[in-house]
Amino acid sequence: MFQEFKFTETLQIPEKMLIQFLMTVHKNYRTNVQYHNFSHASAVTHTLYLLLKFGGLQELINDPFDILVMLVSCICHDIDHRGTNNQFQVSAKTMLSIEASDSTMERHHFNHTINILSLPDHNIFKNLSKEDYKRALNIMENCIISTDLSIYFKNLKSINELGDKYKNGENLDLENNKRNLELLHGIVMTSCDLGSMFKPFEDTRLIAEDVLIESFEQGKKEKELGLQFTSTLVDRASTEKEIPKVQFEFFSNVIEPAALALVKFLPKAQYILEGVQRNKECWRKLMEKKIEYSIGSHSIPL
Ligand SMILES: [Zn+2]
Repeated sequence: MFQEFKFTETLQIPEKMLIQFLMTVHKNYRTNVQYHNFSHASAVTHTLYLLLKFGGLQELINDPFDILVMLVSCICHDIDHRGTNNQFQVSAKTMLSIEASDSTMERHHFNHTINILSLPDHNIFKNLSKEDYKRALNIMENCIISTDLSIYFKNLKSINELGDKYKNGENLDLENNKRNLELLHGIVMTSCDLGSMFKPFEDTRLIAEDVLIESFEQGKKEKELGLQFTSTLVDRASTEKEIPKVQFEFFSNVIEPAALALVKFLPKAQYILEGVQRNKECWRKLMEKKIEYSIGSHSIPL
């Protein structure tokens, strides 16, 4: 993906340095985490790549610099994830939550990326002008922080309003209007982060299981630490049987609204909305069958 956009030529990034940077990013994802590992980071980056190539995103963002910053944001957006979420950091009073109490993990992913860029022979933005360098870090910070779903909820109304204006022919003026660019980056990053949810249902179902296995592991840690559960989703005993209902609600309240907002900007990304709606219906059918869901069951009748 990185090679295809020819950044070595267009932005004079030495190929060796780009490879070194990506290898270090890979090494800094933890392998003992069920979902937030390098496979997830690669899948999110690939969803962005598909949006650029086939979803019409390159019609809005076509500068190689902007494309590189977005790809780097995707591949780094969950770096050094520990399998525990922001609520856990606050509840367990971890060092990370003392450093930043809002968007705790996302702030850590951004800071960790900056640390990697600071290593010798890793600064792929080295040849940028001082002004562009600052701009790259600002965009990256906004992109990574916007993968915090609480930021998505906060911005969703503004994103939809902007999307409606764009659909009615208004110019987004992305070069000068920083807020519009931030909102567009935000909905693109959220859509890529949730990208597994428009895949064929069997893939989506298995990835949803990975998310919940990680969440139940967090629940175990909360129990060990003597903390209250931060959410019912970390409690295996009450959640596992209800997975179709939990997923149907997640699709209805989070994923489908994101896909509906995205296609306002990118009508060619209709395939994402269609995949999301198809999978939502699959979860609905499972929910209505009232089966007792159990993770690892490979014959789910639809
Ligand atoms: Zn993610």
